[in-house]
Amino acid sequence: MKTLVNLLFLGIVASQGMAAERGIFGLYGDTPDAKHAWAVHDFNRPYPKQVETPIGKPPSDAIVLFDGTQKSVDENWCDDQGKPTKWRVKDGLFVCVPRSGMACTKRAFGDAQLHVEWMSPVADAQKHGQLGGNSGVFPMGMYEIQILNSYDPDPNADVTRNYPDGIAGSAYAENPPLVNASRPAGEWQSYDIVFHQPIWDGTNLIHAGTITVFHNGVLVQDAWELEGMSTHRVRRPLAPHPTKLPWKLQDHGDPVPFRNIWIREIPSRWANTTHSVMSAKEADVRALREQIAAKLFAQIDPAKPDVRNVNAILEVLSYSKLPKYTDTAKTLCGGYEKMLRSLPEKDLDSVRTYVTGTLKGFDVLLRNQVIAPADYPLYATLQEIVRKKKW
Ligand code: MG
Repeated sequence: MKTLVNLLFLGIVASQGMAAERGIFGLYGDTPDAKHAWAVHDFNRPYPKQVETPIGKPPSDAIVLFDGTQKSVDENWCDDQGKPTKWRVKDGLFVCVPRSGMACTKRAFGDAQLHVEWMSPVADAQKHGQLGGNSGVFPMGMYEIQILNSYDPDPNADVTRNYPDGIAGSAYAENPPLVNASRPAGEWQSYDIVFHQPIWDGTNLIHAGTITVFHNGVLVQDAWELEGMSTHRVRRPLAPHPTKLPWKLQDHGDPVPFRNIWIREIPSRWANTTHSVMSAKEADVRALREQIAAKLFAQIDPAKPDVRNVNAILEVLSYSKLPKYTDTAKTLCGGYEKMLRSLPEKDLDSVRTYVTGTLKGFDVLLRNQVIAPADYPLYATLQEIVRKKKW
């Protein structure tokens, strides 16, 4: 009877069937530190939102900019002056009307993922240089990913040959695509673009920003660091601009058709001030750690030194070492140790998972220098049991 009481008190009987539940052994990966509010493999970390990804359709969280309808154009596109775009919807395609100006998104976007499909008109196939099916995607209206008839399988044909930093898939005037993934004129092509804008501190450039492009599924720009603004012939250095601006499709005088255009706003890594070696602000990290510690501590019964509360308070310590947490930890660990020691040897096997689990939690705290072993005699007791039982 005494054993059952002890097991109950340790929280072991009550915990049967819950061994896999998080929180029993909260400490698993390396603990939070000055630049990381979360531990490695931290169950407390917010879980990503589920996005539906039906095949052939935009993901459920995308903003659809063109779906084949005039309505989607009226809602999402305008010209450079904010007036209705003169580009036309024809047979479900959004077609550039030459010399009508850029098509601009009505909404402003900053860092984003864009999907767009386009085609070089067959009539443009034999045009030379920059004159065949020229358009372009301009993230924030500032940086061009070139659209051009660039299919060129025969290096001697030189029909559409162009300067390499101006063919399809190039970061125009800066970087040619890694490979030429173009399809011939008359075939649909796709761009999937991931754009991160330059980061400024006043007029001091912190990070150049990057552009990644998949052309027909092939990586052609691999986080290319932007060197300047969209340009021709001259180098035009980066300069600060608003953090959200319309994205644009270029009118370069060719009737390039588009379809299936959608965009997803994405967070900047630089906006992450609580978990990143690159961008974390230590005060923000500290504040979030205290917030998590307080939330976890609120679920602990300081008067009940069972396995759950012991592991939970050790987890709290990994976030914060406020005196009220360390005092509670010492009390809970002391009580837990006392109960463990009072357990008859024959019953130790039934608590093996809990002993080894708590020991692993201690190991995580010790290797991250969160606590000193001398402050927690429970640690030595757990080691002693494991050694004795050869677990
Ligand atoms: Mg262009």
